[in-house]
Amino acid sequence: MPRDYYEILGVSKSATAQELKRAYRKLAMKYHPDRNPNDKDAESKFKEASEAYEILSDPQKRTAYDQFGHAGVNQQGGAGGFGGAGGFGDIFGDIFGDIFGGGQAGRSGGRARARRGADLQYNLDITLEEAVHGVTKKIKVPTYVSCDYCHGHGGSGKQTCATCHGAGAVRMSQGFFSVEQTCPTCHGRGSTIKDPCKHCHGQGRKEEVKSLSVKIPAGVDTGDRIRLSGEGEAGEQGAQPGDLYVQVQVRQHPIFERNGSDLYCEVPISFITACLGGELDVPTIDGKVKLKIPPETQTGKMFRLRGKGVKALRGSSMGDLMCKVTVETPVNLNSKQKELLHQFADSLGQHHTHSPKSKSWFDNVKEFFSGN
Ligand SMILES: [Zn+2]
Ligand SMILES: [Zn+2]
Repeated sequence: MPRDYYEILGVSKSATAQELKRAYRKLAMKYHPDRNPNDKDAESKFKEASEAYEILSDPQKRTAYDQFGHAGVNQQGGAGGFGGAGGFGDIFGDIFGDIFGGGQAGRSGGRARARRGADLQYNLDITLEEAVHGVTKKIKVPTYVSCDYCHGHGGSGKQTCATCHGAGAVRMSQGFFSVEQTCPTCHGRGSTIKDPCKHCHGQGRKEEVKSLSVKIPAGVDTGDRIRLSGEGEAGEQGAQPGDLYVQVQVRQHPIFERNGSDLYCEVPISFITACLGGELDVPTIDGKVKLKIPPETQTGKMFRLRGKGVKALRGSSMGDLMCKVTVETPVNLNSKQKELLHQFADSLGQHHTHSPKSKSWFDNVKEFFSGN
């Protein structure tokens, strides 16, 4: 028969949550495996107290325990996932696993995380031409750089931290849980410096605006990210530096819109060119090319100029240039020109032989009104 949970914690049956917590913390501190290495008795006492606290700190489980004793919480175990041998073992495994296992190994193996410098991100705006052809950009990044005076070491006389013995972390008991916290003495480094560098106050790095040349490869597009390994913040006391990520944003172009390796542009053509056809110069990213407009071209027609787009970063083939023509309605006409248009309209007559689209539209409308 297991011991009474209240008895284990040394509190009365009417103990408040506060009293339970205080009682458990006292026992946990006393029997904590970290303080009692290789002491099986302390370990079992610690487990016992933890189990008691786990049940009594949960109002539902506590009610069940008060009514039915151990049977109450064991029965609940099936449904609640607690109390069964397997469930309990798992919970202990999770919480104490690294005390009994990993923690010990960590001590000797040097678990302390040398504080690697942070990764940085730099947002770089470039033009479409720069994106297509590639460019080298000078950028200025506010960051931490290695201290020249101590060569990043932070000073001399590096020694293992006395508080955490080099682990970089200390273990604190909070209620049922045992929480690992960054060591307050060495801030996780696992070591302290006897004679800290005066220029960087022992950090081994200092704030600086760093100038860098970034090579942007041809074909980049908005959303591409270029990683500059080791160009992020310098680490503390000679730890690894972080990386710098250059996030590319391609500015809007006055003429072209880009979609992958294809370029799109809108080409206004005159009403006359649309009717009679013609040839016009259209821009590409590398100069002008001729675009042939066939007679009777309608507005909105898309022409594809193969290989006049751009080359994507990944992939070897050139994209296409897509030219969408829009027929421009003539404006500022004088009376003579208007008169000519009237004459022109008369010559077309009432039948829509010259405007097939309008004809089919009018036919549809007629059908719509007479259809019901
Ligand atoms: Zn220094
Ligand atoms: Zn420490």
